[in-house]
Amino acid sequence: MIRKKRMSKGIAKILSGLLVFGMVAGLVPTVPGGTVHAKAEGESEPGVTAEQSEENVPHTHCECGTGELSAESHTNHHTTQTWTGIDDLSKITKSGEYYLTKDITINSVWDCPSGVELCLNGHSITRNTEAIDGSFGGNAVIRINENTSFALTDCQKTVGTITHAKGVSGEGVYNAGFFIMYNGKISGNNSSGVNAQSLFEMYDGMICNNKTSDLGGGVYVSDSGGYKYNFEMYGGEISDNEAKYGAGVFIQGTKVAMTGGTIYNNKSTYSGGGVYNGSGTFTMSGGEISNNTTINWGGGVYNESGTFTMSDGTTISGNKAMCGGGVYKESGTFTMSGGTITGNTAAGSAANASGGGVYNKADAFTMSGGFVYSINHAGYFQCF
Ligand SMILES: [Zn+2]
Ligand SMILES: [Zn+2]
Repeated sequence: MIRKKRMSKGIAKILSGLLVFGMVAGLVPTVPGGTVHAKAEGESEPGVTAEQSEENVPHTHCECGTGELSAESHTNHHTTQTWTGIDDLSKITKSGEYYLTKDITINSVWDCPSGVELCLNGHSITRNTEAIDGSFGGNAVIRINENTSFALTDCQKTVGTITHAKGVSGEGVYNAGFFIMYNGKISGNNSSGVNAQSLFEMYDGMICNNKTSDLGGGVYVSDSGGYKYNFEMYGGEISDNEAKYGAGVFIQGTKVAMTGGTIYNNKSTYSGGGVYNGSGTFTMSGGEISNNTTINWGGGVYNESGTFTMSDGTTISGNKAMCGGGVYKESGTFTMSGGTITGNTAAGSAANASGGGVYNKADAFTMSGGFVYSINHAGYFQCF
């Protein structure tokens, strides 16, 4: 949605940018990341204040922030856009490209208009108070409503954060529309980092240190919307999140496609350290699920009744659980045509510890390729 509109608009913006700011050497659209770095250096020059810099130098970069995103659909489509500086989210009243000029605090959810792309520019958006109306996503920092598209990015080396103040609960982003994450950080929320009711595409950036006592610490993927996949992970990191079920990612009755990125170091207090797949379909054709832990079952992946497929170029490693360090399959289907499961540990009390790499409780575990190395550690071969 966003991408189609941008074609004509983007060209118009480049043209006007060249006319007005043609003398700025950094504005060569074909140099990935060039303009970003030129600006960053300018800001740090002695005697040049941030304000002067904001006023005098146009804020231009690709929507991917760094100009270096290498996702298949984007690599040959880097485009220089001119972004409008704002110091308050209420100044975003229509579609367009915006960037933050300072850290922002808000007291209620920001319902973004459709077709907005926001560059955090190294700044944070912090929500300070909880909602009392109890509406879906009412406690989030950013809410993307139905038929609304929103893209989050950041052009700075130290990226900005979407977060809640200490002691205030709510999701970082509640998505019932179409959410694209190019860069930036969703962190420190007392709920899921992203609640994906509808299509969420993650290209880069971090979803980290979010914590819920329920489902999906990093990303909670629900089963609504008519998309092929509700969550497509092309890159980035989902790390250090905590949840009861699915500390990294929880999915139920929907589809997730992981082609890159890492889900690591997430901690489940019950089952599914990296990924908890309820009755959904999780297709892993790239990326890695590593160093996740859970108290009970499925350090890397817990497959309840859905389908999990793993192919070439994927890794599930270094995860820990009482049972099924790498993978615990309660039932459903696990198909492995490639990839590697290695270095996982089932390390509960010795009598229960089992299935360092994979513990298959019921139904098909089909392996037509890949490796499950013996350096998966387990105790006795009995699990409950
Ligand atoms: Zn780009
Ligand atoms: Zn920017």
